[in-house]
Amino acid sequence: MNNWEQIQGIYIHIPFCLQKCLYCDFASFPQQDRETMAKYTDNLCQEIQQRALSFPVNPQATIYFGGGTPSVLPLEDIAKIVGTLKNNGLWQKPLEATIEANPGTISLESLSTYRQLGFDRISFGIQSMQDEELRAMGRVHTSLQAREAIKLAGEAGFSRISADLIYGYPSQTLKSVTDSLQTLVLQGIKHMSVYGLVVEEGTPLCNYLDVGKLILPSEDDSGDMYDCVTKYLPQQGYKRYEISNYACIGEESRHNLVYWQYLPYLGLGLSACSFDGQARITNSNNIEEYLQGKTPETEKLDIETRLAEYIFMGLRTSYGVNLAVAEERFAIDIREIYKKEISECQSKGFMEIDRLQRTMHLTDFGMKFGNQVFEKFL
Ligand code: SF4
Repeated sequence: MNNWEQIQGIYIHIPFCLQKCLYCDFASFPQQDRETMAKYTDNLCQEIQQRALSFPVNPQATIYFGGGTPSVLPLEDIAKIVGTLKNNGLWQKPLEATIEANPGTISLESLSTYRQLGFDRISFGIQSMQDEELRAMGRVHTSLQAREAIKLAGEAGFSRISADLIYGYPSQTLKSVTDSLQTLVLQGIKHMSVYGLVVEEGTPLCNYLDVGKLILPSEDDSGDMYDCVTKYLPQQGYKRYEISNYACIGEESRHNLVYWQYLPYLGLGLSACSFDGQARITNSNNIEEYLQGKTPETEKLDIETRLAEYIFMGLRTSYGVNLAVAEERFAIDIREIYKKEISECQSKGFMEIDRLQRTMHLTDFGMKFGNQVFEKFL
């Protein structure tokens, strides 16, 4: 069976957080009571049982608990979800099992329990190593807690630790972003996801910017931060293997590669999305509807959409779009179909074709202008 005919990754959404960060528009809710969390866990376990048999699953499918903040869910609930996945054949011998955590919501006990349950990778939402910036973001943790969390994760047996960072946030400077990166490199973090701030409509951050309570760094300053991130981490031995992701050798997120290779995945929980190779299946993002068991929405994807999405996802990575796989998978020669678009991107220096490897990928210059490239294909 081809790898695009089987589920290769399983995503579990835990939609609870201690408090809402100012910039966040994810499906997550602050300060939920124990009863709601227990009910959510029960519904999620039911969903796992109901949907486990709907697709063929690779026994090595990756596992990813994301959110929200999975580390705010009581350990007994995490254990129950893991047990249900295992009992229903969705957690067999995963290539990787990641749990997201907030440095302000962990302890050596919780981290050790995650390891015992089988998680072998942890992703900390750190965002910055400057306390003033963390406060301005509405984060619940301090930079000291972030350092402590990394240390405790190592003590609990996690050798694969990832950190998320943001640049371009109000009050950030080139120096503060560089300091945060340096600190995390020195802490031995081998994988970093570094995102340029996107201001989402309706968030408190958006309102504060509108009324002038917070001010974004200038475009030039944000551009300098981008240049710093994209140069500094490769100089320290991290490969930029996706537009916003950097990893030391062997530390790439195998779960995220499933998305970027446009392979089938199963998403379970509030607002979670699945892709079976032909259609996208999305759960409600309304917690009442989800708890009432609302049927997910199915959107059939035609061949043009799938091909465009395959290219879009592949171009995000340094490996690029595999033209030979595309030919086998979609029975289409991408270079024929997108002759004009490819030639435009090549002439602007955005894209290169490796004829030997039969791949097409963005150059470093093209990664900076990724959106201009993507809109040609989507
Ligand atoms: S912790 Fe993450 S999911 Fe929760 S509010 Fe903050 S950014 Fe959003």
